[in-house]
Amino acid sequence: MLGLRPRAATALALLAGAGIVLAASAPAQAERPAVPTSLGSTQPVTSTVSPAAATTERISGADRYATSVAASLATFPGPDTPDVVYLVAGENFPDAIVAGPVAAAAGGGLLLTASRSLPRVVADELRRLDPDRIVVVGGTSAISSSVARAADAIAPVERIGGADRYATAELLVRSVFSSADTVFVATGASFPDALAAGPAAGSAGAPVLIVRGNGSRLDRTALRLLRDLGTTSVVLVGGTSVVSRGIASQLGSELGSSQVERAAGADRYATARAISESAFGTSFADALSISVLAARENLPLYLSLPYCAPSSVRSALGSSAITTRTLVGGPGALSPGVERLEQCRSLSSASSLWVLVNKRNGIPTSYVPSSLRRPSIPSSGSYLLRSDAAAALERMYSGVRAAGAGSVGLTSGYRPASSQAAIYNNAVRTRGQTYADLYVARPGHSEHQTGLAADLYPIGASNCGSYTCLGATRQGRWLAANSWKYGYILRYESGMTSVTGYEYESWHFRYVGETLAADYAASGRRTLEQFYGQPAAPRY
Ligand SMILES: [Zn+2]
Repeated sequence: MLGLRPRAATALALLAGAGIVLAASAPAQAERPAVPTSLGSTQPVTSTVSPAAATTERISGADRYATSVAASLATFPGPDTPDVVYLVAGENFPDAIVAGPVAAAAGGGLLLTASRSLPRVVADELRRLDPDRIVVVGGTSAISSSVARAADAIAPVERIGGADRYATAELLVRSVFSSADTVFVATGASFPDALAAGPAAGSAGAPVLIVRGNGSRLDRTALRLLRDLGTTSVVLVGGTSVVSRGIASQLGSELGSSQVERAAGADRYATARAISESAFGTSFADALSISVLAARENLPLYLSLPYCAPSSVRSALGSSAITTRTLVGGPGALSPGVERLEQCRSLSSASSLWVLVNKRNGIPTSYVPSSLRRPSIPSSGSYLLRSDAAAALERMYSGVRAAGAGSVGLTSGYRPASSQAAIYNNAVRTRGQTYADLYVARPGHSEHQTGLAADLYPIGASNCGSYTCLGATRQGRWLAANSWKYGYILRYESGMTSVTGYEYESWHFRYVGETLAADYAASGRRTLEQFYGQPAAPRY
């Protein structure tokens, strides 16, 4: 890959994706204004993993707008503030991907706004920055006239917006770049595929051009722009499915094929793709907010999964040259596991402790866990669990009793696909399919088949004599609040049916291991799907 890692890992590094991390090395530290730690939004924490005992910081806010303000505070701690600030719709990724490198090249700041109203935190930050002008990015459908008026009350506003995202991108690039040897070309259709472009281009001092990547050729206007800029090389961001072969060969004949590079397949680019668009939510906005800081300080940016550090991140940020890493986004966007550079485990393998089994993701019906055994706790039958889950359940049983919260027993554990089929078919027969699918998994889609799920019932509860009302009992409430300490999570919480596909099950606990369960609790997420950044699974 060409020119994508300015000053490489010896500089600070930035990690993004469902969140972002920056890392700093000792030699680079002097060049970098310290990220202010006195701000409420920037919390220094000491990392527990790096051999170099790197310091980890977070830049985060309550929402995407507050995070963009936190990034702005870190970029421009004062007293020097930028002459121009770009205001971009937080919902509109193509504008923001293009605007980041443009703002960086202009020495400007970048803030996100809601489409129809200027968030108060953003208005306050605009007043603090006190720029000579504010550039509102996009047409009135991206950012309304009332937002522009509110901004204009702070500093004179100029709007740069074309008929569509592609026209806006060209206008933005032309507004700042009179020439550009290298241009990054990304799709305007899918943000995970384009996300890495902004910060990479910004750090390289190059513009990003958003194009209709699935077309067989570039639009005439895009080609004219490259000629006007005197561009001699391009970096295509993403694989041929997002920026077509036709575009690559067209640019090859224009510039020479050695001048066309494709940045794709590498972990750094593939990672964002691994996170579903629906789950990207605020996190892609976090990545865009940080693009100006990354570009100004020449910080490499790394995309991460939300719940663990991919190998590219581990090797780059675990290096002893790195002294500081900055995560962008709160613990729901980047879990403490990312902070620890925790290695990722499979979400799809049936034997993985982290496996995600739901209506979208099945496991082979032939799968049988090894090391099944009966946990030594009361039970209503001879139920088995995987030995790691069984040991953890025994500890949790001791825990609930030691806390004086009553007692519980096991009423279901491992189920082979054949028993799951019998239970499901019986539910369909007696209650109908709609009901059955809200409470019982089809064979091949049940967590019980992994040996990692335990259904519990209360013992000696005066108000509940069945597993179905466990949630109303003292022991049920204690388990819901404390099971994570034993590696179990309450898998089907109340009100989350649209994500999990199941009604509230106060009795169903899933073992994921103590580390991941603690990270899950810290994230504030209420479904494993959201914690993993995976799509909702309401139906098969
Ligand atoms: Zn269950």
